[in-house]
Amino acid sequence: MSPPDKIAKIETFRVPPRWLFVRVETEQGIVGWGEGTLEGHTEAIEGAYKDLAERFIGWDSDQIQNIWQHAYRSRFYRGGPVLMSALSGLDIALWDIKGKRHGVPVYQLLGGRVRDRVKVYGWIGGDKPMDVVSGAEERRAQGFTAVKMNGTEGADWIDSPAILQKVVERVRGVKAVGLDVGVDFHGRVHKGMAKQLAKVLEGVQPLFIEEPLLPTQTEEIADLARLVSTPIALGERLHSRFDFRPYLERRAMDIAQPDVAHCGGISELHRLASYTETYDVAFAPHCPLGPIALAACMQVDLNSPNFFIQEMSLQIHYNQGADLLTYLVDPLVFAIKNGYVEALQGPGLGIEINETLVREAAAIHVSEKAWRNVVWTGPDGALREW
Ligand SMILES: [Mg+2]
Repeated sequence: MSPPDKIAKIETFRVPPRWLFVRVETEQGIVGWGEGTLEGHTEAIEGAYKDLAERFIGWDSDQIQNIWQHAYRSRFYRGGPVLMSALSGLDIALWDIKGKRHGVPVYQLLGGRVRDRVKVYGWIGGDKPMDVVSGAEERRAQGFTAVKMNGTEGADWIDSPAILQKVVERVRGVKAVGLDVGVDFHGRVHKGMAKQLAKVLEGVQPLFIEEPLLPTQTEEIADLARLVSTPIALGERLHSRFDFRPYLERRAMDIAQPDVAHCGGISELHRLASYTETYDVAFAPHCPLGPIALAACMQVDLNSPNFFIQEMSLQIHYNQGADLLTYLVDPLVFAIKNGYVEALQGPGLGIEINETLVREAAAIHVSEKAWRNVVWTGPDGALREW
């Protein structure tokens, strides 16, 4: 057995538009990239990496499961968005290293692939859904066959029923362009509105409705799942198998949307694909983030029988100052044709990061304020969900 190739260095890079890249280097000089972006909480993740670096430098980079278990279990507190996003970035980088060491894509290390290409969808309409028809036409011209948009802007606990019909009209408009459309409720509407919105949308058959309520409302989401036939998608704010468990046991979801940068990386995303399969739940990883997160998702998508569609952030409204392809040496790896992206071919994650550009962008960005989401209030001045 060859001696272990130990982790020598762990660095983070805060780069536009709102991403946190992780670079891990081994003693033998293999470099792996990960993404531990937690939108709006960048500094918290940077802090978490002080601990991860202190703990895992000097560990055998091949022992991903052992490192994952120690990162997850050895500090008493576990789970949640901050700790799991930090662990995600480290885990993704270690899989990249392992693939590069063996000269194969990560999906080969997971057992090979069950498909040759990955179906994808893009975003339209922005935070407050506008111009969705022209957005849909643009995405169709780019090769997409499916898109996602926000259902409503901020809404009151009980709002005017007039807002509901506008959502239906937008869905009709997008479908008339010839695209399937998922509608993200974004946890913005509360139960009294969400059940009405789910009901009126049922007739126009969106591809799915997403986060129909906040992730605190497992039982109420299960009620919605029984109320309408539309597939219910959620999972971006669930951070491990343990968080998914009550939704699965209560039959509250049809489509699992774990986010590889928040759920524990490739290791946990792969486990979640199998776990959700046992409940006949489809698998559609959430990914409004950067190219490293997307490549990590695709490695698992290629291997997972219950996968059906992958989110990608090309020209998403958050991508100000840099876009999905900016930091790639070869942006063609994510080329879209007839709604699909071909299987990644290169070793590890199958993408090559332009390190010079990442270092330059991070050096400029470090003195700038990290990205924050907008905060919405209603006409009465009270906070509304974003
Ligand atoms: Mg969402």
